[in-house]
Amino acid sequence: MKIVVSFLMVFVALGGAATPQNRTMKPLNAEEKRVILDKGTEAPFSGRFYNHKASGTYVCRQCGAPLYRSTDKFDSGCGWPSFDDEIPGAVKRLPDPDGRRTEITCARCGGHLGHVFLGERFTPKNTRHCVNSLSLEFIPADSSHDGENGARDVLPIETDTALFAGGCFWGVEYMLSKLPGVRSVESGYTGGTTRNPTYEQVCSHRTGHAEAVRVVFDPRQLTYEELARQFFEIHDPTQLNRQGPDVGDQYRSEIFYTSPGQRRIAEELIAELRGKGYAVVTRVTPASTFWPAEEYHQRYYERKGTQPYCHVYTKRF
Ligand SMILES: [Zn+2]
Repeated sequence: MKIVVSFLMVFVALGGAATPQNRTMKPLNAEEKRVILDKGTEAPFSGRFYNHKASGTYVCRQCGAPLYRSTDKFDSGCGWPSFDDEIPGAVKRLPDPDGRRTEITCARCGGHLGHVFLGERFTPKNTRHCVNSLSLEFIPADSSHDGENGARDVLPIETDTALFAGGCFWGVEYMLSKLPGVRSVESGYTGGTTRNPTYEQVCSHRTGHAEAVRVVFDPRQLTYEELARQFFEIHDPTQLNRQGPDVGDQYRSEIFYTSPGQRRIAEELIAELRGKGYAVVTRVTPASTFWPAEEYHQRYYERKGTQPYCHVYTKRF
């Protein structure tokens, strides 16, 4: 035992790369081990840093290496903390065993962080580090712990994310994009089981996904309740597994909530509509992974210069 300890002390003193046996490594609980060592993924919208806006530095949960600055964090709506840049040299990129994605790990200890995606155009850097909260620790800029990274950060713009399914996503996206306070809308698939589904797969009814729209909005200009009220007025929430001419379970009415507050508001609005005599069939379920749809489905009516055939505003409240 003595030999092992002194070997490690020399190793650390020489600045060698950390190993899982290194004494500077924090012990991990079972959940952290599943993500950091076994390359697992935490549930979307569940991590403590997903909606975290404070100023400071995100460091490796396992070894404490500074990885990301809060100034590079942005709200992608994907359900995990997103950064468009890393602290130089802090993050290593590796081909994921799935053959498609690029895994990111802590360059110091090799702990799994998540994946990096390029070309999605969320920010001018065109890069999204999608990181598990469980892989990170946060050091606030005003704490005495901060080192050379941290102190000068500015507060990012506060946004919230909502997910709605209400028939053909072209129409829902178009109608909700018109609201003041909406910062971005995106058509996609959610609520099913197939990973990275195609439109054809969703139409086959075997994926369980609904056509859905992800809305990133500024809650200072538009509250979730105002947004959800609009959702109930731009589609018919009494139609089961269809919307107008579009028939099939992918056209179902469903709210995928990203917080307990959203769930409460959705359920209250449904109760209010039922009180007015509407037999609402809208489901209210926790948000799961949102898969952006093919590019040709995005901003469909805007690009065609036409109006939705499938959605029209109807006052219900
Ligand atoms: Zn590390």
